[in-house]
Order: sequence, then C-alpha cells, then structure tokens
Amino acid sequence: MADQLIRATAADGGIRAVGVITTRLTQEARKRHKLSSVATAALGRAMSSALLLVSSMKKEGSRVNLKIKGDGPLGGLLVDAGLDGTVRGYVENPSIELPPNSKGKLDVGGAIGNGYLYVLRDVGYGYPYSSTVELISGEVGEDVTNYLVTSEQTPSALLVGVFVDKSGVIASGGILLQVLPKAARDESLVQLLEERVSSLDSFTTMLRAGRTLPDMLKEVLGDLGLHIFPEVQLVRFDCSCNFDRVLGALKLFGQTELQDMIEKDNGAEATCHFCGEIYQADSNHLQQLIVDLQTQSAINN
Ligand SMILES: [Zn+2]
Repeated sequence: MADQLIRATAADGGIRAVGVITTRLTQEARKRHKLSSVATAALGRAMSSALLLVSSMKKEGSRVNLKIKGDGPLGGLLVDAGLDGTVRGYVENPSIELPPNSKGKLDVGGAIGNGYLYVLRDVGYGYPYSSTVELISGEVGEDVTNYLVTSEQTPSALLVGVFVDKSGVIASGGILLQVLPKAARDESLVQLLEERVSSLDSFTTMLRAGRTLPDMLKEVLGDLGLHIFPEVQLVRFDCSCNFDRVLGALKLFGQTELQDMIEKDNGAEATCHFCGEIYQADSNHLQQLIVDLQTQSAINN
C-alpha cells in the first residue's frame, strides 16, 4: 500500500484521529543513510510521529521538527516533517545494532537511552513554538505521547511501529488519537481511548495482516460516530537540499578557506545530513564563489 495519511473525527468532533503508513519512506531513509535495523526503527517511528503531529496544523507551509538527544549508542536523531506530507531525517550513529529487548523487539529504547525530546512547531512566520520534555523510555511513541499530554496538554494516544527484516522495511506507520479541548474534561472518554489503543495489536502486526488505515480506525472508534475524511494524503521522503544551497553554505567558509580547498582538493564535497545526498563542487564552482565574495566586499567598501 502506498505511503499515505488519513484524517478522521469521532464523538461529535471531540476526538481527532490520524493514521499514517510510512513503509516506503522509511525504507528510503534506511537505504539513503545505510541504517541498521534498530536505527531504522528509531527513525521510522520518529518520522511517523512527526507526520502525525504536523497533520493537525492549519497554515500552509507548517512544519514540525522532532529532535531526540539520548545517551545511548544511537546518540540522537532529527526529523523534519511538513504539512505537505514531506518528511526527512537522520540519526547520529546509523550503523549501531543491539540485541533484541526482553520482548524480542528491536531495542529502540536501549539505542536511544536517557535524554530529551525537543519538539518545534513552525507555521512559517513569527517565533516557532518549541518545547522540551525528558524521555520516558526512549521508545519514541511513548515519549511523543508524553510530550503531547504534558507540554501541549492534549490527552493523546499514539501507536507507532516499524517492522524490519533482512530484505528491508516490511511495515511502518502509526495512529494518533487526540481528545480535543471541548471533550477533554470527559475523563471517561480519555480513559476509553487509552484502553482501546493499549488493547490493539502492534501497528505493524495489523498492517502486515492486511488491515488498512480505515480498518484500524474503525476498530478503535467504530462505535463512537467515526467519520473518516475522504481525502487521502500521500506522504514521502523528500529533502529540500540542492546544489545552490550547498554553494551558499560553502561560501560561508570565506575566500582563504575556499582557495585552500581549490589548491589541496581541487574542489569540495558536501553531504546533506538529512538525506545523505553527496554534492561535488569543483574548482570552477569554488573560484566563482571567491569572485562573488570579492565583488560583495568591493560593494560593501
Ligand atoms: Zn538533503
């Protein structure tokens, strides 16, 4: 099934539900960054979470950045997702592998360790809203749920998962259920959602069993006046980097450094952290940057 996101409401608009499938984009991230299985699971869960978080924003161009900094062997990760359905991200140490945890699952919590989750919501103007919470388990889903409940004060239930085998990513995605402010005082509703989500199979078990996103939402909210919006939004791994931006970044090194790169290396190589794309700037490109800098300083003087 293609990577996609669907939105729904239930309980007369008191509940907001979103589901996302990210199997292909997680596989793409795995390939681009040569991720180990546990790193794939960590980044896939984070990319699904960020897409689910950004889906509630209204303003075109809105983005969510989700950054985890941990003391485990994975180090940390950074994900950037847009309301337009694009997402990109990377982990600090892509190749680390750990034995399965006590439940026989990929040990994402052990890979991330103790630390912090930073979430930034940017609507494209003014100051972005950002907040930090301590990690509870490093399993990503629990940590993002804790962020939503404590920092955004929205009762939420989040289920994210990634299933990887030797051939790559077989299933990835998640579901987010939120009780909106007008219904948030209804403790029984909040409790009901928590119970239902915790009684569900893992997201990837359901997806691998052939269940669609609407099937899953029906299972949780079917008797609560579920309304699934007909629009299906496609989501994909996409990075906004390009050669011009790389040249812009190289320019910041200044004339002396650039001259040095020309003489020592005949050019420069730059890798985009977010997508792993490698850009080669040759001596001519660097020479042109030096000319630009000279022209600029002549104008400024
Ligand atoms: Zn890039």
